[in-house]
Amino acid sequence: MSELAERLAATDARIADAARAAGRDPAELTRIVVTKFHPASLVRELAGLGVRDVGESRHQEAGPKAAELADLDLVWHFVGQLQSKKARQVRDYAHVIHSLDRASVVDALAAVPGSAGPLVDGFLQVDLSGEPGRGGVAPADVAQLAERILHGGGVRLVGVMAVAPLGEEPRPAFARLREVSERLQTLAPDARAISAGMSGDYAEAILEGATHLRIGTAITGKRPDRG
Ligand SMILES: *Cc1c(COP(=O)(O)O)cnc(C)c1O
Repeated sequence: MSELAERLAATDARIADAARAAGRDPAELTRIVVTKFHPASLVRELAGLGVRDVGESRHQEAGPKAAELADLDLVWHFVGQLQSKKARQVRDYAHVIHSLDRASVVDALAAVPGSAGPLVDGFLQVDLSGEPGRGGVAPADVAQLAERILHGGGVRLVGVMAVAPLGEEPRPAFARLREVSERLQTLAPDARAISAGMSGDYAEAILEGATHLRIGTAITGKRPDRG
């Protein structure tokens, strides 16, 4: 077994353990392998190991990779900060955008009048740190942005996403995200998904209801130099 296959299997086993510890069915979790900074060849290798959901965080890297791997039946998740002027280009290859955190991005993705319904699944990114600049909307502003997404028509709002703040225990932060999710569901009952949990904290995220885990280095190994 390759090291990559071993890390993938070990991570999936830990995910399953964490799910059972939380009284949840591992089959209800989507494990996304975040492949940023890794070459397309690694994504192809992952696909050969059965990976279907892959995550990228930079448009200039993700677009060419998705094009090169168009022969594979992958689901592309865009997890990085999104600029409004790039949003429509990202939507051309991404099936799911996890980082909706600004009106300008939401507006850029809004449906063109007369076109068919939603084109992309979207998570509303929530800032759990209280420090501006790390991406995400403050919990108090979630409802307003959610309304904008719901009215825009170009995005199917599936849930909330967050990154655990630095320098804080992840579990209480993910518990706050779960509360935000519950409030969001009073506005958007179908937006039940929670994208949370990275290599260092996915077990805590699973305990707090995460449905989509974004795992990079635990599976891919160390990222190559950013060049
Ligand atoms: C890179 C990244 C991840 C994966 O991080 P790891 O610590 O390597 O698992 C998850 N989410 C986002 C938003 C990322 O940018």
